[in-house]
Amino acid sequence: MNASTTAVAPAVDDLRSRLTGDAYVPSDEAYGVERLAWNLSADQNPPLIAVVETAQDVVEVVNYARAYGMRVAPQGTGHGAAALQSLEDSILLRTTRMRGVTIDVEGRSARAEAGTIWTDVTEPAAEHGLVALHGSSPNVGIVGYTLGGGMGWLARSHGLAANSVTAIELVTADGRLHRIDHETEPELFWAIRGGGGSFGIVTAIEFDLYPMTEIYAGWLIFPIERSAEVLHGWREWTQTVPDTVTSVGRILRLPPFEDIPEPLRGRQLVVIEAAYQGTQAEGEALIAPLRELGAEMDTFAVMPASQLVRLHQDPEDPVPGAGDGSMLADGPAEAIDAFIQTAGPDSGSTLLSAELRHIGGAIARRVPGSGAARLDGEYVMFAVGIAMTPEMHAAAEADVRRIQSALEPWSMHNYFNFSEMPGDGDEQFDPDTYALLQEVKERFDADELIVANHPIRPAS
Ligand SMILES: Cc1cc2nc3c(=O)[nH]c(=O)nc-3n(C[C@H](O)[C@H](O)[C@H](O)COP(=O)(O)OP(=O)(O)OC[C@H]3O[C@@H](n4cnc5c(N)ncnc54)[C@H](O)[C@@H]3O)c2cc1C
Repeated sequence: MNASTTAVAPAVDDLRSRLTGDAYVPSDEAYGVERLAWNLSADQNPPLIAVVETAQDVVEVVNYARAYGMRVAPQGTGHGAAALQSLEDSILLRTTRMRGVTIDVEGRSARAEAGTIWTDVTEPAAEHGLVALHGSSPNVGIVGYTLGGGMGWLARSHGLAANSVTAIELVTADGRLHRIDHETEPELFWAIRGGGGSFGIVTAIEFDLYPMTEIYAGWLIFPIERSAEVLHGWREWTQTVPDTVTSVGRILRLPPFEDIPEPLRGRQLVVIEAAYQGTQAEGEALIAPLRELGAEMDTFAVMPASQLVRLHQDPEDPVPGAGDGSMLADGPAEAIDAFIQTAGPDSGSTLLSAELRHIGGAIARRVPGSGAARLDGEYVMFAVGIAMTPEMHAAAEADVRRIQSALEPWSMHNYFNFSEMPGDGDEQFDPDTYALLQEVKERFDADELIVANHPIRPAS
């Protein structure tokens, strides 16, 4: 029983009788498990949780919500749950049981149901020498990631995941199931590819896969005291590299956890990570200037492309975290100094990780048919701390805010997927793009039945 929930969902047995999946209220034992997001710091207390199994289940939940004046918040893993606003009048719609995947080897594409995580696709795709445009975490939800843009290790050459989507099946607020693509409902198809989950509840998504079996990738690891020379060296290097390499400069404060390998456990480090699509010889020549910095550890090697999904070593088990990001229009040396002052060795930061990802290349290119995602900057920052207690949460949030303020002179709107604090969608877009998104919201969900993190508000 969850004492924080006061609203009572009506006619729940009627809804249950219509679902293949389940519906839980706070007095049900399963409610306590289903309300947990991957980010354990999100305290979700909706009056009703629907665990759907089919697209028709989604239709039933949407119709029920409309009939009883409730709202619906779709959620896969809950990696993005910290940014959700209150669920007091909402049904939390969990898609976790919808894990079906079909790989079309000849057509080089995948169809993934709403609750799939990245490894559901990367593993079967690898058996056919194909890769997807996943991000740095193996168990982030494909739908949430892609609807927010989706930026990973291949993004500078292959673009955002949202722009490799070929079709989306979704239920709109009127309870209708659509299959949309570039020709059918093109405005909605544009908006949802980058504008997030405000426009409908996705039941399945189809996207392109790319041939690739190997990649040259790894980490260069240095003690945190060397942050300035390493991060300045990395920044200068990023100004010279081709789009076939994506890299990250990162400051890590690793906890003394058993599952962290002994030489790194409990240490404070500065790290360069990179993935290059080319041969070992080319890769070695490319990273030679970084190797000249003299890393304490060097893991660069040719690896199966399927291992890229774990290169960043993101945590897979649920954790309580507090994080947020910034997007930098450009990243001069002064921006690196500001980053080091607030995240580096003498900053007093408590954060687990503070990173700068090099973007640009195909990420920023607007090609015909691109979706609404906007990552026009040169670097994107993301910082996160472990938040086991309210005090740790407050400290992490303050540390993240400090980095964001220091980077303010170079910052533009935030990147949707790296925004982990609640706030409307207007913080993630330029005003013109946001106005267009609002028109689509107005047309498909003027009453805001669908609840998303970073909601797009209707035009009126
Ligand atoms: C450890 C970690 C690593 C990450 N790495 C990257 C990265 O490399 N690149 C990157 O771009 N992002 C990355 N992210 C951000 C991540 O892409 C977003 O948090 C994303 O929203 C997570 O999607 P989800 O479905 O797993 O999360 P959820 O919290 O389940 O969903 C987030 C939001 O997506 C929408 N949504 C989910 N399912 C549906 C649906 N069926 N229909 C409609 N809307 C839906 C909803 O608005 C929901 O609030 C990372 C996040 C974490 C925590």
